[in-house]
Amino acid sequence: MNCQKLAELISDYVEGRLGLIDRLRFQFHLGLCRDCRAYLKQMRGLVRALGALPAEPPPAQVQEELLARFRNFQRTRKG
Ligand SMILES: [Zn+2]
Repeated sequence: MNCQKLAELISDYVEGRLGLIDRLRFQFHLGLCRDCRAYLKQMRGLVRALGALPAEPPPAQVQEELLARFRNFQRTRKG
């Protein structure tokens, strides 16, 4: 599990769709990686906010943008 893999799985994790092994790997990485913990927190806040809205089409665009921003962040941090 690395940061990119975690970013791919994060929506499944937040929605409880990950299997046991993936969930353990996910949580193991979270334990090691402060950036991904911050990202998860952001993601949870987003899901909560969306859950509070009336039924609307899934905001895939919002999620895409968050992921893009996160990857960008990872790149700039390492460079
Ligand atoms: Zn990470």
